[in-house]
Amino acid sequence: MSVQQCQPLLEKMIGRIQSWTTKFLSYAGRVQLIRSVLLSIQVYWSQIFLLPKKLIHLIESMCRRFLWTGSVEATRKAPISWDRLYWPKAAGGLNLMDIGLWNKAAICKLLWNLCKKKDKMWVQWVHVYYKKYNPRWGDKPKQASWVIQKIFKAKKYFEEVGYTEEDVLRLETFPIKTMYLKQRGQFSKVSWRRLICNNSGLPKWIFIMFLAAHRRLQTRDRLRKWGCVEDDTCPLCNTEVETTDHLFFTCSFSTQIWTVILEWLRIYRQVMTWEHELKWAKQHYHGRSANAEIYKMMLAGSIYYKWQERNARKGRAYGIGVQSSSSRPPAALFTGASVFQEDMEAMRQKVDQMSQEFQATQALIQKLLKKKSKKGAAMKSECEEETDSE
Ligand SMILES: [Zn+2]
Repeated sequence: MSVQQCQPLLEKMIGRIQSWTTKFLSYAGRVQLIRSVLLSIQVYWSQIFLLPKKLIHLIESMCRRFLWTGSVEATRKAPISWDRLYWPKAAGGLNLMDIGLWNKAAICKLLWNLCKKKDKMWVQWVHVYYKKYNPRWGDKPKQASWVIQKIFKAKKYFEEVGYTEEDVLRLETFPIKTMYLKQRGQFSKVSWRRLICNNSGLPKWIFIMFLAAHRRLQTRDRLRKWGCVEDDTCPLCNTEVETTDHLFFTCSFSTQIWTVILEWLRIYRQVMTWEHELKWAKQHYHGRSANAEIYKMMLAGSIYYKWQERNARKGRAYGIGVQSSSSRPPAALFTGASVFQEDMEAMRQKVDQMSQEFQATQALIQKLLKKKSKKGAAMKSECEEETDSE
């Protein structure tokens, strides 16, 4: 199979990415679209053929460009390498589907089918058609078609993860995902994983926090190093150098915002540096309690809005953007009638929903505790009642 034969697939992908709606997508929205594109390839294409490496490379670079720039043509330096995005979220990735690897795992399943003589039409066909010999592990049937020959290549992939022929034959079922995860290997976890994983905040907040945690936001200290700007002063306070650490916590503007939020969360302490905030969160809010959930959401939300405000001010400084009024005070970010209000409304609804769930859970726990305290006979009758009502 050649790249030309896969042209319809590529055209379909470009069509989806270039449709007008994608122009307004946030990073998080683009990630979602990429996931769906990769999923369709995984489901419809990669389970049958060994996809050409060139094609996989084309798909990856297209997705990469789309993620960071929002289009398929322009190229720009990616803040995070594409391979890293395949990693699990706990390891600092986005858990995107590695199409090349998934494809190999799917081909492994075909070879397993062939060796186990699974009751499938195509396997029987291969066994009948190549009757002269019995298709087995390690065979390289020269007279076999290209597709069949590629299946036998899977032996190599099995060996890469330490499987022998006996191991493969012993497998009763073969979920592709299990093989995929085995091939993907182990990763060391990042310290900030709990802030990103299971964060109920809006996806666009979490993505900006994800970039901040990687220290890959284009803060002015970095831009200056690259020679893009001369002035690396923070646009929020106009006094210190803008670094990731400064911008989100130690900046006087950010400190004011975070102090208000901490008070609202009934957390009474000083604003800390990024590193200390992480350590503190790990120590105090590691679980999945309602408080921890709300803290994580607020952290992501505040980072996002600080970043937005910083970008807006940078834009104003260069004469970009509509608003020409003087910079907003920190409080306006969270209280004033502003563009953020819709998001804040969405967040409030989420907090409401969570507190309702929290109350429901509490009620359930109390009910269970009450049940436990009752004597055996009473419990028995209650159980019977429950089974009756079912
Ligand atoms: Zn500052």
